[in-house]
Amino acid sequence: MKIAFIAHDRKKEEMVNFVIAYEQVFKEHELYSTGTTGTRIMEQTDLHIHRFCSGPLGGDQQIGALVAQNEMDLIVFLRDPLMAQPHEPDISALLRLCDVQGIPLATNIATAEILVKALKRGDLAWRELVHKYKPGTEL
Ligand code: PGA
Repeated sequence: MKIAFIAHDRKKEEMVNFVIAYEQVFKEHELYSTGTTGTRIMEQTDLHIHRFCSGPLGGDQQIGALVAQNEMDLIVFLRDPLMAQPHEPDISALLRLCDVQGIPLATNIATAEILVKALKRGDLAWRELVHKYKPGTEL
């Protein structure tokens, strides 16, 4: 599955600790992130992450492009709810597209924990059917 990690600055440490805790689960998947979040995770784990641009420079939109095509299977987006972000429109667009496509999205650590446990248990296997029967794909 394709999984994306995004964390605002004051949430990056929480994200790194979360990914370390579930590294054995995440290593089985294709991982993506915004620039700095991915760098921080790779510095402290053995995971390889495809890094897009930094969030304020368009990284959320790059991940959003995969969401728009229903390619991304799970997003952990640890937002900072107490600080305004310069790229707020990009953030809203990404969240909206997740809802358009019905893509599992965690915006806080409590939900992220539940989703990663669901992922480990195979509860997100339905995403494979989404890819298999995507419009334009042979049945
Ligand atoms: P970053 O982007 O991982 O490059 O810091 C995340 C964000 O701040 O939106």
